[in-house]
Amino acid sequence: MSYNKAVPALVKSTSDNIKRICLSHGRFRSTVASTQRDEVEGGKEKQVDECTVVKAVQADLLIQSKNTTEAQTQKIEIDFDNTHEAYKSKDNIELLRSLLVFKLCTFDFLVDKNKELMDLSKKVFGQRLFERLMKMTFYGQFVAGEDHNSIKPLIHKNQAFGVGSVLDYSVEEDLTQEEAEKKEMDACVSEAEKESPGVDHREKKYKAHRQFGDRRGGVVSARTYFYADEAKCDNQMETFLNCIKASGGASVDGFSAIKMTALGRPQFLLQFSEVLVKWRRFFNLLAAQQGKSGMDALEQKLELEQLKESLTQLGVGNKDDIENWFTGEKLGPSGTIDLLDWNSLINDRTSISNLLVIPNVETGQLEPLLRKFTVEEEKQMKRMLQRVDVLARHAVENGVRLMVDAEQTYFQPAISRLTLEMQRIFNREKPIIFNTYQCYLKEAYDNVSVDMELSRREGWYFGAKLVRGAYMYQERSRAEEIGYEDPINPDYEATNRMYHKCLEFVLEEINHNRKANVMVASHNEDTVKFTLEKMNQMGLSPTENKVYFGQLLGMCDQISFPLGQAGFPVYKYVPYGPVNEVIPYLSRRALENRGFMKGSQRERSLLWKELKRRLLNGQILYKPVY
Ligand SMILES: Cc1cc2nc3c(=O)[nH]c(=O)nc-3n(C[C@H](O)[C@H](O)[C@H](O)COP(=O)(O)OP(=O)(O)OC[C@H]3O[C@@H](n4cnc5c(N)ncnc54)[C@H](O)[C@@H]3O)c2cc1C
Repeated sequence: MSYNKAVPALVKSTSDNIKRICLSHGRFRSTVASTQRDEVEGGKEKQVDECTVVKAVQADLLIQSKNTTEAQTQKIEIDFDNTHEAYKSKDNIELLRSLLVFKLCTFDFLVDKNKELMDLSKKVFGQRLFERLMKMTFYGQFVAGEDHNSIKPLIHKNQAFGVGSVLDYSVEEDLTQEEAEKKEMDACVSEAEKESPGVDHREKKYKAHRQFGDRRGGVVSARTYFYADEAKCDNQMETFLNCIKASGGASVDGFSAIKMTALGRPQFLLQFSEVLVKWRRFFNLLAAQQGKSGMDALEQKLELEQLKESLTQLGVGNKDDIENWFTGEKLGPSGTIDLLDWNSLINDRTSISNLLVIPNVETGQLEPLLRKFTVEEEKQMKRMLQRVDVLARHAVENGVRLMVDAEQTYFQPAISRLTLEMQRIFNREKPIIFNTYQCYLKEAYDNVSVDMELSRREGWYFGAKLVRGAYMYQERSRAEEIGYEDPINPDYEATNRMYHKCLEFVLEEINHNRKANVMVASHNEDTVKFTLEKMNQMGLSPTENKVYFGQLLGMCDQISFPLGQAGFPVYKYVPYGPVNEVIPYLSRRALENRGFMKGSQRERSLLWKELKRRLLNGQILYKPVY
């Protein structure tokens, strides 16, 4: 028996505590209920409620319940060892390709020198032959195609097997380390700092450091953008707009992902982050002084009147300054403090640099972060936010949910806060904007709980993507070398505990008010099983579309496809782009799939198992049917 699962809505009949349900490829999903899928359903295959009931011995999906009164809390179990289900959408050539690619990733030499080897192959074989070779191997495994049109067949096939897509245009600049460092320093140092370095007392964590200027170092899972000029940011926005449009066309409630560093000068994210973190520290100090913790401390962060009082007591800023500074525009919808109100941020009349003010307990002043911003810097900040705003509005118009990726900790406070400001505006009716929480951070749980509390108070829909985090090595060595506290949990187990704690917290929220949504973006089978177990305990049905799963294309199909076919909303990040331009992406995939990694080994053994099964069953020419 491949799956033991329960979906009350799909129950057809009851006998001996075992309920049989109808089975067809991925037909139970509503999340990726695309027009395409409807066409297929209307054509070759029947709708869910019309489909035939398969016999228990043949059924891959079975509903078990101890008695009928437990209909709401029936157990869902998915067998992730069932290779027949996991690889149903793949022919034998595709399985062999996966095996070959994962095997190649076990050779350290190939992985370490992958870039040089790809360059060499291009020279030796010529462009055309090189492209063919790549398409037969790494590119074919991890990338869907060159453009919007060529990726369609793969998207539709995955959809037919219950797996949706998050389009991810994966073209990356192929910069040398030196070029990357130069670009970063140019983009992260303000004019004021160039004129008189060290005068503004910037915190070292939130300043660019040449030795870490190449942000690609030590990162395997994520793409890195470097700022060149405003025109390039406009182009990148266009690319995201196209992805949103394509996602809207591909399914009724698709997802699209964006990275803020692609949309403007990163200097602004550093500055904003520093301001936010300094305010956060100040709030913590206030709370500690008054012996407050937990919710009481949170109240203090949020309530304007309390803040004004505390500032006056501490002698930070005189009364008039405080009154002037906390004007109406800094008030959130429920009277809470809103340092970065979205409407005023994108409004041309607001000077963003005026918002970059921090309390200095020692001097008793509310001080600007920098002595001055140039007119061009003001404009650049504004344009970055306006680009994000355009994307959010486009997502709303196209019925697409927008996930804002999490990045390095020196950018992340700003990214996360700006995302939250968008949620306040765009998540009024349903969750459109999703924030990303990196659970390898010591502060992950605090971040999730503060944002969740705001969503409750203000009545908007909380949307979260939970990840472990992609920048661990870089974060650690930067913290050590530059000299600040390592933001990452002490070990892998601590990150796992943090992930599960945050996840459980969001699931509890969903269980209580059904307003929150979460994407479990992980390749970790234990985390997926943990989620299913919690959903079982809480009686959360997959068909409610509150809990989503996310994996990368070409990785962990043994998790994505069984989930999809069992009716869970599951999505693959689908990279696409011309062969030559996705090479940096492919390099990272090779690194992430290094043979010694547990997940990759398991995937290879499951692929072998399925190939052997097909050979023994005479399915040498197996073709997926959909
Ligand atoms: C759909 C999707 C979207 C993603 N979006 C983002 C994003 O927006 N931002 C982002 O940063 N990442 C993102 N990632 C990448 C993600 O953060 C992880 O790097 C990657 O998925 C591996 O984690 P895992 O849970 O899949 O698997 P696992 O293999 O179980 O976890 C590996 C991760 O655990 C953590 N870890 C490992 N060793 C230690 C240690 N010694 N101490 C502390 N922690 C440790 C690290 O985060 C490492 O990446 C995304 C991944 C997916 C699948």
